Amino acid sequence: MNENIIRQIKNYADKENVPIMTDDGINYLINYIKENAVKNILEIGTAIGYSAIMMCSVSDDIFVTTIERDEKRYLEALKNIKLLGLENRIRLIYKDALEVVIDEKYDLIFIDAAKAQNIKFFEKFENNLNNNGTIITDNMNFHGLVLKNDKEITSRNLRQLVRKVKNYKTFLEENDKYTTEFLDIGDGVAVSKRKI
Ligand code: SAH
Ligand code: MG
Repeated sequence: MNENIIRQIKNYADKENVPIMTDDGINYLINYIKENAVKNILEIGTAIGYSAIMMCSVSDDIFVTTIERDEKRYLEALKNIKLLGLENRIRLIYKDALEVVIDEKYDLIFIDAAKAQNIKFFEKFENNLNNNGTIITDNMNFHGLVLKNDKEITSRNLRQLVRKVKNYKTFLEENDKYTTEFLDIGDGVAVSKRKI
């Protein structure tokens, strides 16, 4: 992996306010992939390709399909993936994830897109999960806002968004088909394993 290019991608994210995974979040994902011999990954929310590239970097036999709906970010991701010569291992789809039709099955599905739509993403893409697969969701803490009292959040839109993140948490807790662990890593990560 070309460290300079990775640094450039991180600098770009910083400058342009692209919310890429934090270092501890990425390290968690990388370890998870190693320990569970994950080979096929579906990512919802590419942004500029950083997490897809990092997950791919674990080993040469890992393949990532990743979906992004924002044109500018999609183009930047395309550029970064080409720079690193990963076009054969990262399949980038420029579309709203809720409109994409995918038939393949994946060992790991990583949801890191619009927080308000997490239940929809989960219900749509669990059909693409291998029997022993895992769904990991980022931003469960929503920058700490989830832990705050409703009254402390003054913007109505933000309150609604926080409520949706909380609803998703409840949805996972009450989902009989999965066991979910909530980890205080990065912005909060949920790890949902299908019960066998
Ligand atoms: N996983 C990336 C960061 C993703 S940021 C990383 O760590 O490097 C979240 C991205 O999801 C944004 O770029 C946003 O445009 C995208 N997104 C949000 N909702 C989406 C949807 N419904 N379909 C596709 N992309 C979506
Ligand atoms: Mg995120």
